[in-house]
Amino acid sequence: MRIAVIGAGAVGAACALALTEAGAEVIVLDRVGVAAETSSRCEGNILVSDKGPGAEAELAILANRTWRELARRLDGDRMPGQPATEYEAKGGVVVAFGASAGVLADFAATQRAIGIRAVPVSAAELRELEPHLSDAVEAGVHYPDDAQVQPSLATQAMLARACRLGAEFRIAEIIGARHAHGRIIGVETPDGVIGADAVVNCAGPWAGAVAALLGGRLDIRPRRGVILVTTPMPQRVFHKVYDADYVGAVGSGDAALQTSTVVESTPAGTVLIGSSRELVGFSAEQLLPPLTEIAAKATKLFPFLADTMLLRSYFGFRPFAPDHLPAIGADGDVDGLFHAAGHEGAGIGLAPATGELIAHAVLGSPAPLDPAPFLPTRAGLRSAA
Ligand SMILES: Cc1cc2nc3c(=O)[nH]c(=O)nc-3n(C[C@H](O)[C@H](O)[C@H](O)COP(=O)(O)OP(=O)(O)OC[C@H]3O[C@@H](n4cnc5c(N)ncnc54)[C@H](O)[C@@H]3O)c2cc1C
Repeated sequence: MRIAVIGAGAVGAACALALTEAGAEVIVLDRVGVAAETSSRCEGNILVSDKGPGAEAELAILANRTWRELARRLDGDRMPGQPATEYEAKGGVVVAFGASAGVLADFAATQRAIGIRAVPVSAAELRELEPHLSDAVEAGVHYPDDAQVQPSLATQAMLARACRLGAEFRIAEIIGARHAHGRIIGVETPDGVIGADAVVNCAGPWAGAVAALLGGRLDIRPRRGVILVTTPMPQRVFHKVYDADYVGAVGSGDAALQTSTVVESTPAGTVLIGSSRELVGFSAEQLLPPLTEIAAKATKLFPFLADTMLLRSYFGFRPFAPDHLPAIGADGDVDGLFHAAGHEGAGIGLAPATGELIAHAVLGSPAPLDPAPFLPTRAGLRSAA
């Protein structure tokens, strides 16, 4: 079976790998390159800590386990010169100021009930985990299973492995589709048609537009986020540390600017500071307000950051689904068309589990969990035809 995967971000690379490993003939098509868009304009957190009970938490728990094993495979048997994922199971620390401590404790209790390791820590224990944290932080929860990868390298590593197993990667823009008897039989590019028995739309924040090009329907929108990067320094942040407000910002559908503090160090010695969320289309305007706000909040969490030099900032567009769940599975209108998109701020973390669900949807491989909550045919996710 020949499958065209549109998009070489983390989700497309993971789908290509899962489909290739399941025995399909796969061609990955991207108009720019590998990890050229959102998957290189993000952080690489693989989180269970920000997920409350529900379908996304089940997917995140599965993905967390899958990443641990996948990173070992990708890093362990790579060819000389091939990228490593920089996988680090460093754990997360979520902290609360004042009254939000009770909210965080209650949230952690609901997570423990579904099997997430969420360990309440005292102010003294917090200082042991993160000695440079502000004295104003009074309570926290430690999530030993949070991890991270370098998202661009991890995407390249997944695609490199898929290609070693027989997949093909080509730079090509998808501009339409060929259908026969209601079924998709190929995708159109400016250089001609590429035939396929099935097409998987992994076009990230452009997945809605690509779905329409292919005759399908999917309501995916861009949700902008900015990141600050410090100059390299000796390590002073040891976990992924964020304030409890982050969970509220992730779950909010508000179009206005939402910011919360997310701080983490990288193997290169830089510290990444996020995060903001805004529904402003694909706009590159007005970046200063979110950057200023996250810088101010980060110094409240880690006062030493006030005296730190910044190396750069960047921004990306999260693929946002209005009901905050990724769309994974068959289109419903067009036979042979599948979607894997809308992972918003969790597409790196959720990528390998998404690949397994797509292998199930396209090839009938065993489903790693109940696919029903993620089906693109669910109410509220079908934009007007
Ligand atoms: C600031 C920020 C921080 C984030 N932090 C995290 C984090 O810590 N952890 C996490 O898990 N996630 C995080 N995310 C979210 C994560 O980056 C995304 O969910 C993920 O990258 C989406 O991957 P994707 O493959 O779906 O999309 P993309 O990486 O955008 O890939 C889509 C690809 O489709 C291609 N494409 C589009 N249209 C066409 C066409 N017509 N023809 C051919 N190709 C096409 C594009 O060129 C692109 O390469 C963050 C995002 C942002 C913005």
